[in-house]
This record gives sequence, structure tokens and C-alpha cells, in this order.
Amino acid sequence: GLIARGISKSFSSKGQPHKVLAEIGIEVKPGELLALTGPSGAGKSTFCRILAGLERPDAGSVELGGRAMAEVPAGQRGVALMFESYALYPHLTVRGNALSPLQAPGGRLALAEANKRVDEVLELLEIRHLHERLPGALSGGQKQRVALARLLVQSPALYLLDEPISHLDAKLRHKLRGEIRRRLSGLTVPTIWATPDGMEALSVGDRVAVIDQGRLEQIGTPEEIWLRPASARVAKLLGDPP
Ligand code: ATP
Ligand code: MG
Repeated sequence: GLIARGISKSFSSKGQPHKVLAEIGIEVKPGELLALTGPSGAGKSTFCRILAGLERPDAGSVELGGRAMAEVPAGQRGVALMFESYALYPHLTVRGNALSPLQAPGGRLALAEANKRVDEVLELLEIRHLHERLPGALSGGQKQRVALARLLVQSPALYLLDEPISHLDAKLRHKLRGEIRRRLSGLTVPTIWATPDGMEALSVGDRVAVIDQGRLEQIGTPEEIWLRPASARVAKLLGDPP
């Protein structure tokens, strides 16, 4: 599984250190989905980037499958991270973007097999008909689904989904959160799903972690958190629309 211990991070703004994460510790078991929720600016994306090894914490450590992340070369960590900004390849079609992780060195799969996997994921996300388009000719929600497709075709050791469905309409969001969840729950990989939407977190997470101003306010099953919020602040964060 994934274990993060005592993760702290400060950024300096105008010469003053600004604490963004304060000693966050979590554990996510293989096959478990931890929903990470909290308001905008709470530190969710920073935490995801640290878990992915893209950013160094000031203190603390990350362990994946019994190995310290810091000791594993970047190319071998097996982390599939979906960025909030998508980071699509502008010169590749929808299909090309979704295929890209399968064609990377080390991720080699016969092209027919890779295309089959891509088709199945594009179908699931309702963008198969767009497979020949370039990202520049897609809507925001369509781009988000291409980024999601590129993630779901992979067989990583850790999934980090940073607001994977935030730009979809309510109906598609509702449908896909169930379908993606079902798909991920068939895998033996730890998954973190960050969202400012408390209701989404409660509905997708096997467990939910609530962070606020860089502090872990509460972690538990959706039932525990919904029925017994640790503070009025947690209750408010979960009840408020994002
Ligand atoms: P959102 O829901 O809006 O995506 P978030 O929970 O993902 O929010 P982060 O992006 O992790 O929040 O940001 C947490 C805090 O860290 C914010 O106050 C942000 O301004 C600050 N921050 C993030 N990255 C940097 C950086 N590179 N330099 C300085 N400050 C940063
Ligand atoms: Mg964020």
C-alpha cells in the first residue's frame, strides 16, 4: 500500500513562510480508494504532487509497496497522476493522447492490444466518437476525459486523481464517478481521489480524509465522517457545495 508519514511543506510568499501542509499522515491499502477533500487552497494538489514524488516535502516520507519513494528513480515509481491542468499533448489526437502511456518505453504493449484498451476506456468516458480530434478542438470537459482516459489505460502502482471529473456536467459527473469507482475497485492499487466536493468524496471514497489549511482534520469511512464529524468545521466542509 501507500504510506505517507508526517508530510509538511511550506512555500514562501513575500519572504514569509506559508505552511501549506502540516504533518499529514495517511495510509491507503492496495485496492482502497481514499477520497481527499477540503476547500480550495487546503493543500490537496500539493499533497498529491508530493506523493507522486514531483515535489519534495520539507519533512516526512512516502512509502509505496514497502519502498521509500525517494529511493526509487522517477521513471520507475509507477505513479499515474492526473493533473488538474490535464497536460495533454497538443499535437496528438484524443487516441494518440490515450495511447501515449502504453507506447512509452517500458509500457510496451502490442498496438492492437493497446488500441483495444484505449477504445474500451474512450467508450466508458463517452468520447470514443472524438478519437481523431486534437485537444485544441475539444471542450474543457472533453479534455478532462481525455486526461482521465490516458490515466485509466495504465496499470500503475498508485493512482492519484486530482479533481478527475470536476469539469463535467452534473449528469455525467454522477454517472462517471460510479463507473470509474467500480473500475478502480477491481484493481489492487491504492487510489487517491482529490475533490473539493464533500458529497463526491463521501460517495466515491472507501475512506475519506478531510484537510483544511494543510491539516488533516479527520479520516474515516464515509459513514463515520457523515454521522460523527470531528468538528463543526468538518460538518460545514462536507455540507457546503464546492
Ligand atoms: P484547489 O481545490 O483550489 O485545487 P488545493 O487544495 O489543491 O486547492 P493547493 O494547490 O495544494 O490547494 O494549494 C495549497 C496552498 O499552497 C495554496 O495557498 C496555494 O496558493 C499554495 N501553493 C501551491 N503551490 C505553490 C507554489 N508553487 N508556490 C507558492 N505557493 C503555492
Ligand atoms: Mg488542487
